[in-house]
Amino acid sequence: MSQISQMKVSDEVAIEINQMNKWYGSFHVLRDIDLTVNRGERIVICGPSGSGKSTLIRCINALEEHQKGTITVDGTLLSSDLKNIDTIRSEVGMCFQHFNLFPHLTILENCTLAPIWVRKTPKKEAEEIAMHFLEKVKIPEQADKYPGQLSGGQQQRVAIARSLCMKPRIMLFDEPTSALDPEMIAEVLDTMIELAEEGMTMLCVTHEMGFARKVANRVIFMDAGQIVEQNEPEQFFENPQSDRTKLFLSQIL
Ligand code: ADP
Ligand code: MG
Repeated sequence: MSQISQMKVSDEVAIEINQMNKWYGSFHVLRDIDLTVNRGERIVICGPSGSGKSTLIRCINALEEHQKGTITVDGTLLSSDLKNIDTIRSEVGMCFQHFNLFPHLTILENCTLAPIWVRKTPKKEAEEIAMHFLEKVKIPEQADKYPGQLSGGQQQRVAIARSLCMKPRIMLFDEPTSALDPEMIAEVLDTMIELAEEGMTMLCVTHEMGFARKVANRVIFMDAGQIVEQNEPEQFFENPQSDRTKLFLSQIL
């Protein structure tokens, strides 16, 4: 097993977040977030439930609006301008805890829908691309089935393949394994490890600390809407600095 966590990252910036704040009504959910992600980085975000991890991830591809500060993705400033939002969404793939596949479409159709309708890719070409990525996540034989006929782990791998069909430069994962039975977690993590080995820029909200140690070049700990601490995995786990990080790690490790 190669040490992915030691893999080099480029000095080109993929995501730049400056003094970003977000409120849900009067609730101040994200506070003064500063985060620079370079191309090829593999970042794991952890922290207690309710600390704002999902909100942060969702702000990066404009599923949620932020109210203060800036977010720049691949050089595009994320503003309320719809054109920019489309640009960013086409660069950024996302996988959620619940796979959000369309139940009435086959696996292949789930994977070709956005390329055909958003990217205007010809159907045949979109199908070839979809089969390529279904092979990559090791379920090409499921292409004509419906999501309900697949296991949770298989559905999540379809969700990853579906994102990859849009050829994203950045992948965001929000607890992709936390709705899965234990025996299916490894197959999804293996797919994510392969993506990391290929140099994909990844931000992963996960409590899979084995994955964090093996794959991440940086672990970020969030609490109460703030980035409390971040470090390379070894330092993060062996020598956490803040009491909040220590408490969190003592609860999950
Ligand atoms: P995490 O992913 O770390 O568990 P979230 O980003 O989901 O945290 O939520 C952070 C806080 O914001 C929580 O207190 C949650 O209840 C609240 N929250 C999340 N989504 C909404 C929403 N759409 N409206 C109001 N409050 C929300
Ligand atoms: Mg969450």
